[in-house]
Amino acid sequence: MAWSATTIIVVHVTAGDCVGLGYTYSDASVACLIEGALKQVIVGSDPLSPAKLWDALHAAVRNMGRAGIAANAISAVDTAVWDLKAKLLDLPLAVLLGARRESVEIYGSGGFTTYSDAQLEEQLRDWVQRGGCRAVKIKVGTDQARDPHRLDIARRVIGDAALFMDANGALAVTQAIAFGRMAMEVHGVRWFEEPVSSDDLEGLAAIRAHLPAPMELAAGEYIYDLDNARTLLSHHAVDVLQADLTRCGGVTGLLRVADLADSFHIPFSAHCAPALHLHALCAVRDLRHLEWFHDHVLIEQRLFDGAPVPGNGRIGPDLTRPGCGLTFKHADAAPFAVS
Ligand SMILES: [Mg+2]
Repeated sequence: MAWSATTIIVVHVTAGDCVGLGYTYSDASVACLIEGALKQVIVGSDPLSPAKLWDALHAAVRNMGRAGIAANAISAVDTAVWDLKAKLLDLPLAVLLGARRESVEIYGSGGFTTYSDAQLEEQLRDWVQRGGCRAVKIKVGTDQARDPHRLDIARRVIGDAALFMDANGALAVTQAIAFGRMAMEVHGVRWFEEPVSSDDLEGLAAIRAHLPAPMELAAGEYIYDLDNARTLLSHHAVDVLQADLTRCGGVTGLLRVADLADSFHIPFSAHCAPALHLHALCAVRDLRHLEWFHDHVLIEQRLFDGAPVPGNGRIGPDLTRPGCGLTFKHADAAPFAVS
């Protein structure tokens, strides 16, 4: 699995001189949806009531379908409105939401199957040695003949850190059970993400039943609404529920999904966009960790002032800055503009 470009859609909402920032990763058409149908709903709404606007935005996309592009758009707007609300109240967003912790554990995520052995080694070593990560994740499943060799490299490079793997739905159920068992017993893998498509609820549940602890099954990055989350949870398809606030409805959506997971006694882990997740995750009760995805880390560090820097395997919000503490660097982003 490889790609050559990532599109970020950055949203600014204003109240007087105060500017709130949000974003999502999706197609550039998301910007058209926000500028069109959603803007009419946003303009004149109360920035101190993000959840009320969230309801109105969902009503506005009813006939487009709530998932996919519409959910990305609402997510970007919702995070921007929460950032704006916190700035209007001159509070860091984590403080406004009621922080339970001062920092969040991250795990390094990349390890693409297209990397050479040397590239894989260098990336994993950097996360463990420089970033202090206590877990790292690599992609598996598209070249099963080479995966044992890649897991072997990872295991050797990361020492005592935990090894996670993500198949992005590439395997069949029986393949996943056999491969998961081998990876756990031979390479000490502890986390198996999307071995099959996250739409295959019975498949995930069957794999989970056949892979005992310490292996944990994880999925949820394609959760777009609370019903998607409830479906995964009620089918006993995961040991840890993932979700992404740039897809699942922003801060408002993420906190609802995390609370729902909590009601099933399932811990929560956040997918990608680490700089934008950080403040909201400080308020999540049963949080496992946050995915430090190399592609999004690169974009956030290039395009935003205030992007977090890891220390000892954790990132923490800058409590001297209001909102989520990020400022979009327009001049640095301009050469990459697509819309
Ligand atoms: Mg994944």
